[in-house]
Amino acid sequence: MALTKKGEFWYGTTSGDTQAELRSYSIANRHEAVRFAASKCDCGCRTFALQSDEEAGVAIRTCTDCGQEHLMGNSADYMDGAAPETHECVCENEVFELVSGVAVHEGTHKVRWYYIACHCVECNLVGVFADWPCEAPDAAAFLAKV
Ligand SMILES: [Zn+2]
Ligand SMILES: [Zn+2]
Repeated sequence: MALTKKGEFWYGTTSGDTQAELRSYSIANRHEAVRFAASKCDCGCRTFALQSDEEAGVAIRTCTDCGQEHLMGNSADYMDGAAPETHECVCENEVFELVSGVAVHEGTHKVRWYYIACHCVECNLVGVFADWPCEAPDAAAFLAKV
């Protein structure tokens, strides 16, 4: 696996590439992501449309196969007043594979920051499309819901 840079964007092919980009973004943000999970619909599909509202702390993924909408992580707690917007790649595609990552409070399992990285299924762009400071009691339980 390897990330390659074209212009200002990074491109990859595997979920490992997406995770690597998420990790380097999180280090630059000074809250390093230490645990990761790839999104998978109940139907088995791994490609989604993504909407988010970073101010509210909300992300919604919609399965491209069965159409199921899922509130990622603890988004359900913050839906009141949220105005999620659809993400579009620089190539105008709106279908992505998603990898989530969390930073934790040092020495604990408590979530400190949430990152969502996307891999465009059309042009292979990878990047963190949404992130916000996030408090949740257990990183594993949180990542089980992405
Ligand atoms: Zn599905
Ligand atoms: Zn693209």
